[in-house]
Amino acid sequence: MLPAQIILKKRNGKTLNEEELEFFIDGFVKGEIHDYQMAAFLMAVYFRGMTDEETAVLTRVMLNSGDIVDLSAIPGVKVDKHSTGGVGDTTTLVLAPLVAAAGIPVAKMSGRGLGHTGGTLDKMESIPGLTVDLSIKQFISQVQSIGLAIIGQTADLVPADKKIYALRDVTGTIDSIPLIAGSIMSKKIASGADAIVLDVKTGNGAFMAKKEDAVSLAKIMVDIGKLMNRKTVALITDMSQPLGSHIGNALEVKEAIEILKGMHKNSPLYRLSLTLGSYMLILGGVTKTPEEGYKILADLIKSGDGIEKLRQMIKAQRGNPNVTEDLSLLPKAVHVIDVPAPKGGFVKSFVTTEIGHAALILGAGRIKKDTPIDPAVGLIVNKRIGDKIETGEPLAQIYANDLSRADKAKEIFIKSVKISEEKPDPPKLVYEVVGE
Ligand code: URA
Ligand code: CA
Repeated sequence: MLPAQIILKKRNGKTLNEEELEFFIDGFVKGEIHDYQMAAFLMAVYFRGMTDEETAVLTRVMLNSGDIVDLSAIPGVKVDKHSTGGVGDTTTLVLAPLVAAAGIPVAKMSGRGLGHTGGTLDKMESIPGLTVDLSIKQFISQVQSIGLAIIGQTADLVPADKKIYALRDVTGTIDSIPLIAGSIMSKKIASGADAIVLDVKTGNGAFMAKKEDAVSLAKIMVDIGKLMNRKTVALITDMSQPLGSHIGNALEVKEAIEILKGMHKNSPLYRLSLTLGSYMLILGGVTKTPEEGYKILADLIKSGDGIEKLRQMIKAQRGNPNVTEDLSLLPKAVHVIDVPAPKGGFVKSFVTTEIGHAALILGAGRIKKDTPIDPAVGLIVNKRIGDKIETGEPLAQIYANDLSRADKAKEIFIKSVKISEEKPDPPKLVYEVVGE
C-alpha cells in the first residue's frame, strides 16, 4: 500500500476499508506518513465525508492507537460527558460534583481550550495549587475515595487524535462530522467510560453551526457508542450565544462555584448542567426520568453536598479548597472595564465565536500552541438574546491585565453584538435528544 493511493481513493470519493485506515493512521502515529500527507487526507475526508461504517472503523483504529484505561477497580457504572465545545461552556465543573454527590463515580479526563472554545483543564488550573496531572493509579484511587476526579488525558490516550487534532487545527479541517466523531468517541472509550452523555453544540459559537449537521454528528456518535457497547445519549444544545455569562478561566470557575452555592438559579448554565447531569443519572441507573434526575441534582445544590464534593476534589488535587468559600482567592485581573451599549433596544444576536476570540486576545486561551494563558482575564456578558438594553448600559465587563488588549477585545465584542428595535425570541436551550 502507498499513502498516496489512499489519499487518492478518498479524494475520489471511495470508501476506505479497515486495513487502509489502519495503515494510514498507524503510519502517521509512527512518523512514517508525513504531515503533508495527513493534511491532504484530512482535506479529502472533509470534502468527501465518510460512510457511517467507515467512521466507526476510523474510531476503532484511532482508539487502538494507544492505551485503554481500565476503570474496573471502581465499582459502579462510570458515566462520562463530553461537549463538542463552546464559549462560556462550564457544565463539567457544575455537573461533575453534583453527579458524584448523587452516587455515580465520575472519573473524567478533560481537554484544554481549542480555537475559540475553552477547556475544563485550563479552567481548573486557575484554582491556586490545583493539578490535573495525576497518574492513572492516583486517578483511580481518588475516585475510589471521594467519587470524583478530573484530570488531563495521559500521553498514551489516543495518540492518533493528539497528532491529527494539531494538524486539523491549522489546516481548516476541524468541522468535519467523521473527524469530530472519531476524535471524541475514541477518547471517551479509551478513557474507560461505560456510558456517555454527549453535548453536541449548534449555532454560531459551535464547530457545527447548522442544526442538521449537529444532529447528524450526534446520530453517528450515538451509533458508534452502541456498536462498542457503550450506552450513549446526545443532546443537541444551543451555542448561538455564550452558555454562561462568565467567559475566561477563573471567571468560569467563579460562576460554577456560585451555581453550586445556589446562585444563578435557573440560568442557562444552571439548567443545561442539571439537564446533562440528569441523563448521566439515567445512564448510571440512579433514576428513570430526566425530570427526576434534575430534581435530585437541584436538591444536592440546596443541601450543599455538591459544593462540598467540589471542595473535596480541589483538596485531593492539591488546590486550595478555601476558594469555594472565598472567591477572592482566585486570580484577579487588574482592570475591569465596562462595555456600554452603543444604542438601546433588544439584543438580537451575537457572533459567538468572536466573543471567544475576544477572550483569547485578552489572554484566556492560546493564540499559538504553547503560549501561556492568563487565568484572570475574560469577559462577563450581562445580556442574552431577547434582553432589553438602554443606550450606555453596560453590555459586558472586560477583565484585563493589559489595556491595549482590553481595547481590542472591547472592539471585537461590540462588533459581535446586534441590537434591534423588535424583541426577538430567545433561542431554545436544548433542541433535541438523540438516542434516548
Ligand atoms: N472536541 C474534540 O475532542 N474533538 C473534536 O474533533 C472536536 C471537539
Ligand atoms: Ca470541553
